[in-house]
Amino acid sequence: MPVENGLSVDVEEWFQVGAFERVIDKADWPRLQSRVEANTGAVLDLFAETGVKATFFTLGWVAERCPVLIRRIVAAGHEVASHGVDHQRVFTMTPDQFRIDLRRARAALEDASGTRVIGYRAPSFSIDARAPWAHQVLAEEGYAYSSSVAPVRHDHYGWPEAPRFAFRPLADADLIELPVTVARIGNRHLATGGGFFRLFPSALTNWAVRQVNALDRPAIFYFHPWEIDPGQPRVARAPIKSKLRHYSRLGAMSGKLRQLAAVHAWGRIDGVAMREAARLR
Ligand SMILES: [Zn+2]
Repeated sequence: MPVENGLSVDVEEWFQVGAFERVIDKADWPRLQSRVEANTGAVLDLFAETGVKATFFTLGWVAERCPVLIRRIVAAGHEVASHGVDHQRVFTMTPDQFRIDLRRARAALEDASGTRVIGYRAPSFSIDARAPWAHQVLAEEGYAYSSSVAPVRHDHYGWPEAPRFAFRPLADADLIELPVTVARIGNRHLATGGGFFRLFPSALTNWAVRQVNALDRPAIFYFHPWEIDPGQPRVARAPIKSKLRHYSRLGAMSGKLRQLAAVHAWGRIDGVAMREAARLR
């Protein structure tokens, strides 16, 4: 039996990414062109065509504005989980602010979906050494799993010392953390999802998934709806490095995702979390 890997989509607008937070004011968000419904719809079509199920880590901000989209995700058999309210990084909040953010996002997602939300992904993988209290708050708020850690060194995120595979971050709670998959080359960890997948040849990500599956562990992969949208507005004031990363190879993404879906076994993150929890017991 092939190992079933976790497939996830971080549902946010093209203007809500960490790379643009210094040039796009949150106060301007409501005036910008919304493309998340159309882009996520295209992702749902792609998943229906390839027959895969996935988890959609969705902003409360999106759920409050696009409840029909949330219902569509659930009706297609996917999991709706939380990505916080408005993409504020966890390590920039106090524990109390984080708790309020979790509650507001969950209320919006559960109202729109009619399902219980048990999973969380921190914006920009922002649970790291700067937020050592975050898992405790998640456990107290009743989450079953988190997929919020990137065990990698990156200029915007990362907790290189974190475990590479599923772990229980707390001694007295069942909460499990499913770090996003990194490939190991010698002693180095290399990201495999999101922009990395879009910018580099698929062969690298395929190799990383196989490397993890050969150890009998599931890979955790993610991408964003805006990554399949070559027609999104361009942010002229963004730093050149951010623009290069954000706009490169958007047109190639759908084809690469179809290929990735066909080559490996994929499923929802809640399923992966349950199997990993049983293994860790
Ligand atoms: Zn995000």
